[in-house]
Amino acid sequence: MNTDFDHFKLKIDWKPSAYHGFTVRKSVSQSLWKKIRLEVLKNNQNTCSICGYKPSEEIDLKRLHVHEVEEYGESELICTLKGLNLICVKCHAFHHLGRTFGTLNKDQIEDLMNHFTAVNNCMEQDFKEYYRFVRDQKRQNAPSILELLETFNEEDTVKFFIDGNIPYKEDVISQLKKKGLYREIENKRPISEHFVRYILKGEKFNFNDFKTQEEWDNYTADLEEYVKSKKSDKK
Ligand SMILES: [Zn+2]
Ligand SMILES: [Zn+2]
Repeated sequence: MNTDFDHFKLKIDWKPSAYHGFTVRKSVSQSLWKKIRLEVLKNNQNTCSICGYKPSEEIDLKRLHVHEVEEYGESELICTLKGLNLICVKCHAFHHLGRTFGTLNKDQIEDLMNHFTAVNNCMEQDFKEYYRFVRDQKRQNAPSILELLETFNEEDTVKFFIDGNIPYKEDVISQLKKKGLYREIENKRPISEHFVRYILKGEKFNFNDFKTQEEWDNYTADLEEYVKSKKSDKK
């Protein structure tokens, strides 16, 4: 597989057509999204996380967009929100490529192309090769029309799952749930290895085995779950 483009800071992407028009932003209230946007701006010091653009005038803050980093279900219409990135309008254009370029004139496209080659320190030719590479990969991974038809029979609309830390996450989930647009996906974290050793295998507990806070958190979470299930067994 060609990975010559891995080092590009500014990646290109576009949404599968089945997901067009469906975003968490459009599914929650405008007032909630406003609060989220302010938080994302603050957390990123009003700076594009890709090219470093930082507006000097208040009015230009609108040139900073909150991009929803998404993953798409292969067999079901589930859109997983992985996080929110603050990026400038130009970098953003490359994340929704099909939609963007269709509406631009020659000068605007040239402007964007200059941005791409400057941020990635590459030639326009590299953009073309990269574009073909991404397009071919997407074609390979795209579900067939027949699979899509099946999908539409089962689920008539895109549902969301939030996997990642975003501001006001609980509020977002509760609004999505109220609209029936939230789809819980079971936690994919594998069972804690410490839990397996101490509880299931009966090894001697040693606090020094824990290297990170996360290992500890996973262990205690699994332990709590285990204690709960034991209690309900007894009833
Ligand atoms: Zn940028
Ligand atoms: Zn976006």
